[in-house]
Formats: sequence, C-alpha cells, structure tokens
Amino acid sequence: MTTETNEVKEKSLNFLEEIIEESMAKGEKRVQTRFPPEPNGYLHIGHAKSICINFGLAKKYGGLCNLRFDDTNPVKEDVEYVDSIKRDIKWLGFDWAVERYASDYFDQLYDWAVLLIKKGLAYVDDQTQEQIRENRGTVSEPGKPSPWRDRSVEENLDLFERMRTGEFEDGAKVLRAKIDMAHPNMLFRDPIMYRIIHAEHHRTGNKWCIYPMYDYAHGQSDSIEQITHSICTLEFDVHRPLYDWFIEALEIYPSHQYEFARLNLTYTMMSKRNLLKLVKEGVVMGWDDPRMPTIYALRRKGYTPASVRAFAEMVGVAKRDNVIDLGKMEFCVREDLNKVAERRMAVLNPIKVVITNWEEGKVEMRKAVNNPENEAAGMREVPMSKVLYIERDDFMENPPKKYFRLQPGGEVRLRYSYLIKCEEVIKDEEGNIVELRCTYDPLSGEGSSSDGRRVKGVIHWVSAEHAVEAEIRLFSPLFKTEDPFDTSEGQTSWEENLNPESLVVTKGYLEPALKSAEVGAPFQFERVGYFCADTDSTADHLVFNRTVTLKDSWAKINK
Ligand code: ATP
Ligand code: MG
Repeated sequence: MTTETNEVKEKSLNFLEEIIEESMAKGEKRVQTRFPPEPNGYLHIGHAKSICINFGLAKKYGGLCNLRFDDTNPVKEDVEYVDSIKRDIKWLGFDWAVERYASDYFDQLYDWAVLLIKKGLAYVDDQTQEQIRENRGTVSEPGKPSPWRDRSVEENLDLFERMRTGEFEDGAKVLRAKIDMAHPNMLFRDPIMYRIIHAEHHRTGNKWCIYPMYDYAHGQSDSIEQITHSICTLEFDVHRPLYDWFIEALEIYPSHQYEFARLNLTYTMMSKRNLLKLVKEGVVMGWDDPRMPTIYALRRKGYTPASVRAFAEMVGVAKRDNVIDLGKMEFCVREDLNKVAERRMAVLNPIKVVITNWEEGKVEMRKAVNNPENEAAGMREVPMSKVLYIERDDFMENPPKKYFRLQPGGEVRLRYSYLIKCEEVIKDEEGNIVELRCTYDPLSGEGSSSDGRRVKGVIHWVSAEHAVEAEIRLFSPLFKTEDPFDTSEGQTSWEENLNPESLVVTKGYLEPALKSAEVGAPFQFERVGYFCADTDSTADHLVFNRTVTLKDSWAKINK
C-alpha cells in the first residue's frame, strides 16, 4: 500500500502537463492538441516523440489531437509521404480526431491576408530575395525599409490579387507583414507571408500560385482548429511572438504555442532533409532500411509500437536540448521483446556435431517452451537427430578455467534436450575444427543426468537435416561517431563518419518452425538476439533482421 502511494507521488508532472493543469485551473475546459508534420519525408523517432506527447497529453486530459499536414510548400511535398505518415501514426497506436491540411485553409488565409492589407499591416514588396535579405540588417544593425513599404492599401490589394491570379513570375513579388524593420527579433522585420510558386500542389492542384509561409500559416491554422496547446520544438521559441502577433492582429481565436526540446540520439542522423539525402545518395536501401531512424524502418527492423512509446516516455520532455544515448532505445525494445517474443533456436556460426551413440536415422521431437514470460504462448516441438549444428563460440579446444560450454572431454546440456560429451575433435588439413564427435546420455533427457552429476553449461543447437537456411542481416548504427557530423578528427563530411560495418550479412541455420515466421513477427533466437523476418523474405529465401542484441554489447566495444 505505502509503496503504491509513493510511486504515484514520485511520478511528478512534466512541464507540459503543468502548463495544461494551470490553464485548466484558470478555466480552460478543453485540451486540443495537434501533430503538424510537413509531408516532405517519412517520420522519424523524433516525430514519434512529438506524436506521443501530443496524442498522449490529449488522451490524459480527455481532449483531442488533430493530425494536420503542414503542406504549404508544393515543391517538396507528396502524397506518398502523407500516406506513410498516417500509417506510422496508426502503427504507433494513436488515432486523430480529424485529419486536416494547411491547404484546407488557403482561402481563409488569403482572406485574412487581405484583411491585414486593409488594416495597413501588410504590403506587396517587389524586391528580390537577395535584396530582402540584405536589407533585413543584422542583430546589431536595423534593417532598411523596402522602397515599396508605403504603397497604398488600394495598390497592395490590387497587386496581391494579381499575384494570386498568376500574373507574376516566381520570386517577382512577395507579401510581407508591415511590422518593424528595426525590431530586435529579426523575424519581426517585415516577415514574408506569401511567395509566388507556380507549382502543382498535391491537393489543391493549380488553384494557387501563391503559398503562405510557415509563420503565417501555422498559428492561423491552429486558431481555426481552436488548438489550445500548440506544442512544438525549441527552435520555434523565437517564432512565438510572431505567432501571437498575427493572431492578435487578426483578432482570432488565441491558440498558444509551447516548446519542448527535440529528441537527438547518439549515432543517429535525424532531420528529414538529411535522411532524404541518405536515401537519394544510395547510402541506405530506402526510407525503410532498418538502419534508418524512421518509424517505417524501425517497424521493418522489428521494433514494436509499445517499445517506441516506452522510449518516448523514458526520455520524457525537457526544456533544454540534449542528446539521448541510443542504448536507451535499445533497452526499451529489449524489455518489450523479452515479454512478447517467442523463443526459437538458430545457429549463426555453425560447427557440426555428430552424436556417435545416436541411432542412425532416428528423429526425436523435443518439447520447447515458446515464451517463459508468457505461459499462454505454449510449447512447440523441435526435432533432434544424429547430426547437429551448434555455435562455433560454444566450443573451445583450450578453454580458460570458468568455461562451462563444450570442450574436449567436457559435458554440456543441449537446450530442451540431452547432455552431450565431446569425445573427439576432427580437424581438416589446415588444422581448422570441422566436426565434433560427441556421445549423449540417453537418461538425461528430462533435465537430470543418469547419475546425478551436475552440468553447468546449456547451449542452443539445431538438427542439421531439419534446419532451414536463412540470410541473416546484422545491423549496427549507420554512423561510427556519436555525432554523425563530428569533425573532431579532421573529417570533412558525415560521409566519412559512416560505419562500414553497419550491415553484416551472414547465413544462419534455423529450427524448422521459423520457416513459417510472419514478416515482422518478433522472435528471440535464444542466446543470440531478437530477430524478425524481413519484408524481403520469401519461402525460397528466408531473410531475418536482427532487431537488437540480447545485451548492450556494441556500445561497450565501441567506447
Ligand atoms: P525535420 O527537421 O526532421 O524535417 P521537422 O521539424 O521539419 O523535422 P515537421 O514535419 O515539420 O518536421 O515536424 C512535425 C512535428 O514534429 C513538429 O511539431 C516538430 O517540432 C516535431 N519534431 C520534428 N523533429 C523532432 C525531434 N527530433 N524531436 C521531437 N519532435 C520533433
Ligand atoms: Mg519542418
């Protein structure tokens, strides 16, 4: 009882929960959040965190979370990305209240821009991009007002209308808010609201050739949807005053923006722009290459939705940027897979074992536990025969003292099966061990030995004649440096930080039950790691991915 109360107490509110509880205490009745991806790439683990926060907070406080595609740049966006984003959010276990697009609001945003022109708060500027940039000034120097800044309302209305109807080329004009060219916050120096882009939009087609900028579109979209808590990452904190400025100038529903620290992971590149480069340059097989940090790739690699949610929960929400150890994410998937993955036996680096006193042709079905963490998973049968494969590592000719696995004259238990004793080591001409001749104790099949002797080592095995061959893909991080952009050793680009061993392909011998493994279904290959069948796997050519090792081994080796 006491521990329970303590636990409840210890789980204190994160700062976003505090903000929400404060606003509710002040009379706010609803919690309405949104997740606002730009459909210009696949979602990554950082987005997963944002999804968990936005959907999680809405759920916790009985509110709703919208999915809103921030599709204001027709050049970079695509329906392929829209579809993948929806699939990924669903896979993570969340569902949105409504699905919206910033482009749904293009008419409203246009009308509001006209309103701002009428209020004398926006103007059409003919300067080129470079001139606008040059005249913006610096942090220490005020900007120079555009020669077009004081156009009359009538002229601005006329020009803006003509921008919309397609009279001008890309870049010929922009619509800017008229705020303050000397403002200490550079974003206030007459920010651009609209630019001309003659490009087909994946939803609005050719209806528009002017498109709103993020700063003009985002807050207003939040306002239209009556978002109470617009949660985004820290780099947007300088945008917040502008977010408020537009809402106040337009006198519309006052949504508020709150910022949290974005997720960064060691050995991992995160932003979509960079991930697109990895795909385009062929560094990886695609967006779903299991070495990518995308949700799509994590799913293919064998991560479970629960493990990703647990990871988001574990890293929590911070107000300051930080970098999370990749090991934490692996810890979370290991924890979940330990509970849900069925156990199987597979040998990745085989050595042949012949049991000399086993009758030729005899096959015995051994009962094996599917999941010791879940009795309901039941049992299966594993065939045992005269010739087996065991892991090469599980035999040592000259072992150190505390080596409990197989050795000359030594005895070991075969998992779910008999004790075997190594009687003879067969080598080829070059001295490589090619076969171990063993005997088994026929009375040791039920877990004890014939005379009560104790044997410490237990190893996994497969029957050579029954084993199915599979291609095994062993993944390690794509980068060998914690920071992919590390230049501390004189590197000139991230390319030089790529890990040449991020994918090692090898052959494995699997117990026959794995032949029918469903793509993505998680398994623990006992004593080896967690694996799942890959999307490339076919009945004729099985392919398994290593989701994660059983222990956090590479992190230590690499340090
Ligand atoms: P990227 O730079 O990877 O393209 P983005 O911020 O441009 O990311 P958006 O699609 O615009 O991607 O972002 C959708 C939401 O996800 C935003 O609210 C954004 O703040 C959030 N988000 C993006 N990256 C991260 C991250 N690494 N950690 C947490 N939240 C993130
Ligand atoms: Mg973005």
